[in-house]
Amino acid sequence: MASINKKHIALISVHGDPAIEFGKEEAGGQNVYVRKVGEALAKQGWQVDMFTRSSSATDPKIVQHTPNCRTIRLTAGPEKFVPRDNIFEYLPEFVDQLLKFQKQSGITYSLVHTNYWLSSWVGMQLTKIQGVPQVHTYHSLGAVKYKSVTTIPIIATTRLATEKAVLETASRIVATSPQEKEHMRSLVSQKGNIDIIPCGTDTRKFGSITKEAARAKLNISPETKVILYVGRFDQRKGIETLVRAVNRSKLRGQADLKLIIGGGSRPGQSDGKERDRIESIVGKLGMQEFTTFPGRLDETTLPTYYAAADVCVVPSHYEPFGLVTIEAMASGTPVVGSDVGGLQFTVVPEETGLLCPPKDEVAFAEAIDRILSNPEWRNELGDNARKRVEEMFSWDGVASQLGKLYEQLMAQSANDLTAVSA
Ligand code: UDP
Repeated sequence: MASINKKHIALISVHGDPAIEFGKEEAGGQNVYVRKVGEALAKQGWQVDMFTRSSSATDPKIVQHTPNCRTIRLTAGPEKFVPRDNIFEYLPEFVDQLLKFQKQSGITYSLVHTNYWLSSWVGMQLTKIQGVPQVHTYHSLGAVKYKSVTTIPIIATTRLATEKAVLETASRIVATSPQEKEHMRSLVSQKGNIDIIPCGTDTRKFGSITKEAARAKLNISPETKVILYVGRFDQRKGIETLVRAVNRSKLRGQADLKLIIGGGSRPGQSDGKERDRIESIVGKLGMQEFTTFPGRLDETTLPTYYAAADVCVVPSHYEPFGLVTIEAMASGTPVVGSDVGGLQFTVVPEETGLLCPPKDEVAFAEAIDRILSNPEWRNELGDNARKRVEEMFSWDGVASQLGKLYEQLMAQSANDLTAVSA
């Protein structure tokens, strides 16, 4: 007979493999979120299984991260990279495989926490079949995203309908910022239960090295003005705005500038094409001499890059939360970001950084210049940024808030079951 363990929970992330190297192959905030939340919950006593779709036949099917936290890769569709817009058709198979896994291992999950709309569909099926409570985090909302892109994919109708259904039926939706909650209410549905629990970051890792030591490690002189971008190569990230802003900087030619654009990409794929496009703009503007593309920055080098920077720029057209922002802030580096979504929650203008209208290269140039030309103010902003992250955005704090929510929903679901059987 299957053992029912109240503390066994499933995190579902169909397209964002939590065991993959972060920063490449469409891997970004969601992969980091699921992995870090999973590990932090396990530390707090939960048994965490994280389910994802296998995208390579040679990858191990189970990766144990910590004693109570593992990634399980299910075979659903071809075992190769499939862009997220083409994954929907493999979801019924994913549900079957997940049910099969539970049967074979004898585990019954007390709660599922789904991530992104594809996984929300899986969670809704599990709720129908097993009555398990579902918590859902969107990571990106179709209703917002489709406003900022020129070509709407064929899957859009299915995505929008699924996002509405999960908002109205899940036990609880977790919005990562008040701005995201507002979008759900104004663009998706008035029905459903939403809590706000932010994303987190590792405040020990980010902030572990001083600016001086970081510069020495990266061979960057203390006088150089360093502007940093970290993230995926995706048009939505607005890297072009950053490049054009730096081109306009009043400090160009006056100071020793360095623009670092960090992030992984695969030649020929969408991120590789975006990187080529950005490199060609850098070339046309004659900025090659002071612009570098170090590629994917791994977990050990990332804190050094953030610490070495004078300013980190997050020029996204749309950003539901933006982990890079709080990683830079935790490292004591102010952020110049777009005045959109989660950035309006994490960045406090004039206190921890500055916000500019998205795509506005003139405003970005002015904001970057203001910070670069006043080192004392820059340090003040950086210190405030670090404090804000310590107070509001640590993974351990985020995991305790999620844990409390899970307990509440599990108790509620047990009560409902007793009421039904009475
Ligand atoms: N990232 C990384 N190495 C890189 C580029 C990005 O580890 O070279 C990580 C980054 O540190 C962050 C995540 O990828 O944790 C990006 O998350 P964010 O929420 O900023 O953006 P998303 O990718 O979700 O749009």
